[in-house]
Amino acid sequence: MPEIREYVVVGSGFGGSIPAMRLAEAGADVLVLERGKRRTRHDFRHSWAPRYLTELYRTVIDEDFEVTFRYASALGGGSILFSGAMIRPPSEVFDYLDRDGYHVWPEGVDRAALDPHLARVEEMMQVEQARWDEVPMPGVVFATLFANMGLTCDRVPFNYVDCLQCGYCEAGCRFDRKRSLPLNYIPRAEAAGAEFRTEVEVLRVSPHASGYEVHTRTMDGRRGSVVGRRVLLAANAIETPAILLRSAALPELPDAVGHHFHNNGDIAWYFELPEQGFPEYASFKGRTNADLRVLGLGPHHHPHRDAAAGHLRGDRGAPRRAGTSRPPLGARAQALGPRDLPLRAAGERARDRADGR
Ligand SMILES: Cc1cc2nc3c(=O)[nH]c(=O)nc-3n(C[C@H](O)[C@H](O)[C@H](O)COP(=O)(O)OP(=O)(O)OC[C@H]3O[C@@H](n4cnc5c(N)ncnc54)[C@H](O)[C@@H]3O)c2cc1C
Ligand code: SF4
Repeated sequence: MPEIREYVVVGSGFGGSIPAMRLAEAGADVLVLERGKRRTRHDFRHSWAPRYLTELYRTVIDEDFEVTFRYASALGGGSILFSGAMIRPPSEVFDYLDRDGYHVWPEGVDRAALDPHLARVEEMMQVEQARWDEVPMPGVVFATLFANMGLTCDRVPFNYVDCLQCGYCEAGCRFDRKRSLPLNYIPRAEAAGAEFRTEVEVLRVSPHASGYEVHTRTMDGRRGSVVGRRVLLAANAIETPAILLRSAALPELPDAVGHHFHNNGDIAWYFELPEQGFPEYASFKGRTNADLRVLGLGPHHHPHRDAAAGHLRGDRGAPRRAGTSRPPLGARAQALGPRDLPLRAAGERARDRADGR
């Protein structure tokens, strides 16, 4: 006879841990199953070594290389390794259609409906807009590029407290300055009685007389199962459909499961920076990540320029933005000084985009 729980939640990222805490605080019996390990700040390193990163991340690449998906496999999911930018979606995104004509967001969900919930999450995760003195050099450069294209930008809200600007957020914060889920929602959920079971992989789900049977495998290969009267699948955008597709016994699975995949950003911005670079700031320091540096390569270094321009034209159904293959950058950006005026001016001109307010 398998163990029977009131709620079984699969995945301990934002999608799993937040409802787990709310349910436990409402008095429900909650079990969270998480494939990754429980890690603390002492487990993280200042390293981009592939051997280290492959311990933390799982990468899924489809046969045609059209979809690549990287996610954190750890208690707390993406909150452990994400960059910490916590931006409210601007109202207009709720109207977007993807290239197949599907609404990106469910009908009836809009910014006004989400606002009270977003406010609660921001409070729990200590989200604050970055201060001017925390803006790293890439921010200054990008703000200038935007300004040259007639666009505006502002500082992003982050879930950092007293950040040391070491730039290793995506390798895990060794200082607990990034306020990830194991520092807020998860301990509160545990204090309310929720159980988080790590290093347990969910294979599939099948109907059961008392609800749904969740079939599992531990990392050392032991198979088992647990029954949830209700089961919440929150194993992220790529693994949740994978679990559903393995769950052939589930009745009435919609045909759309496994299709219409969206990564967390369907727009590629492509800028040209002066080939001679930025002499005063030969290396971008502070908070940034490898993607930004790749985008910063000049036109002759980027073999996929046309493909990137295609994204800008909206070929993939992405929302259109003013894109250009040759933004008028040149001397103006090269003349930038530290904490220079362009960023400040761009930020103050309009505050409508960074958080959608
Ligand atoms: C490097 C990086 C930087 C990012 N930066 C930002 C950012 O700055 N701002 C932003 O808003 N977003 C950012 N994101 C995206 C953000 O992290 C994700 O959108 C978010 O984590 C999704 O939450 P989730 O709960 O849906 O899934 P996840 O956070 O991925 O959580 C899913 C959990 O389920 C577990 N799981 C998966 N399959 C199984 C299974 N079969 N059995 C058991 N457990 C399973 C996983 O191990 C994981 O812990 C970033 C992502 C990455 C990878
Ligand atoms: S940049 Fe800040 S939040 Fe990110 S890892 Fe370093 S100290 Fe932590």
